Amino acid sequence: MQQIARSVALAFNSLPRPHRVMLGSLTVLTLTVAVWRPYVYHPESTSAPIVKTIELKKNEIRSLLPEASEPIDQTLPDEVEDIPQDDLDDKTASEAGVHEYVVSTGDTLSSILNQYGIDMGDISQLADADKELRNLKIGQQLSWTLTADGDLQRLTWEMSRRETRTYDRTESGAFKMSSELQQGDWVNTAMKGTVGGSFVGSAREAGLTNSEISSVIKAMQWQMDFRKLKKGDEFSVLMSREMLEGKQEQSQLLGVRLRSDGKDYYAIRAEDGKFYDRNGTGLAKGFMRFPTSKQFRVSSNFNPRRLNPVTGRVAPHKGVDFAMPQGTPVLSVGDGEVVVAKRSGAAGYYVAIRHGRTYTTRYMHLRKLLVKEGQKVKRGDRIALSGNTGRSTGPHLHYEVWINQQAVNPLTAKLPRTEGLTGSDRKDYLAQVKEVVPQLTLD
Ligand SMILES: [Zn+2]
Repeated sequence: MQQIARSVALAFNSLPRPHRVMLGSLTVLTLTVAVWRPYVYHPESTSAPIVKTIELKKNEIRSLLPEASEPIDQTLPDEVEDIPQDDLDDKTASEAGVHEYVVSTGDTLSSILNQYGIDMGDISQLADADKELRNLKIGQQLSWTLTADGDLQRLTWEMSRRETRTYDRTESGAFKMSSELQQGDWVNTAMKGTVGGSFVGSAREAGLTNSEISSVIKAMQWQMDFRKLKKGDEFSVLMSREMLEGKQEQSQLLGVRLRSDGKDYYAIRAEDGKFYDRNGTGLAKGFMRFPTSKQFRVSSNFNPRRLNPVTGRVAPHKGVDFAMPQGTPVLSVGDGEVVVAKRSGAAGYYVAIRHGRTYTTRYMHLRKLLVKEGQKVKRGDRIALSGNTGRSTGPHLHYEVWINQQAVNPLTAKLPRTEGLTGSDRKDYLAQVKEVVPQLTLD
């Protein structure tokens, strides 16, 4: 697809100017209509608001043109490229450029990779390399790296504690599979400590590695802001570690207990790889699918490899544009903390909100800000009025969702849900809780 787009761009450049203008307008129209597909939703896989199919009338095509969006040939400047981090991220940062995902209910290889903007061609190449990739199981881990152009470079599938499969892109563009069998022994290790200076420092003293600390912080993210822990707060962690020839190969967090201000907080891992409280209730609060009370037309889709038709360069569109009248109330899609609320060049007036430690949402080209940096917001709170500020060619809202420092498609991304475990999943989980909790002792 990308190669085709590049050769089209080359052929395009060799045309005389009047032809180019005409062909250009036609191409934009064709691309817009081609990109505009109804979103197919699987109700069993999410309880978030369902995206309705919008029938496209002839007279609406005009409003889908990029004129109600950022100019297609420009990407947003560096100052808003990176989502704000804090010192906890610096202290627990994992390997740069590696994206990780835990398979959950309703996921397929293509639904997972698709939300991160990975090309469907790459996804079917992967499935060709290994048919078993069609049978992902809940709780398995996927991780992958991308090339500078955003193409998939390597995918790793942790099938079980025993087997890990890796798929590497070869010269021909196909993927080559290799499999690694682990022979180590898994042992449970309980560690506990008291917060002295910082949680990260105290957890290291207690014997946790950086990636283990990071998994603890993530598991507790909806209950606890680790930057606000006080001296004397206590914690207890149960890790399952794989030991191979006396060395620790990998580990998995089974449960964590935190006592802060005399109150106990728990997060225990279930079979699906997610963390719940002791009753099997989900810890993450649900997100709204749209940042407005009414649903508006999409004028430009999420596209991490959007090509400038003239230069043939990749100018990623890291969010989705909704065409809407200026002054429309913009709502926070979930509970969180405002980390940016300011005017910033191409983004115009913009707001970024951090939800727990995994999710960040960003809202751009606003007319008026209604929140301040550092402010706590609830799902559905008004944070701004929409506008047409910054590098924008028509009134619209540019909306982004980031998961673990990567922009994902806001219309298809898996967002946190409210419900907890039910039926036999809950029964299995409660049995697990009975085993784990007694091991989470404090002094
Ligand atoms: Zn946009």
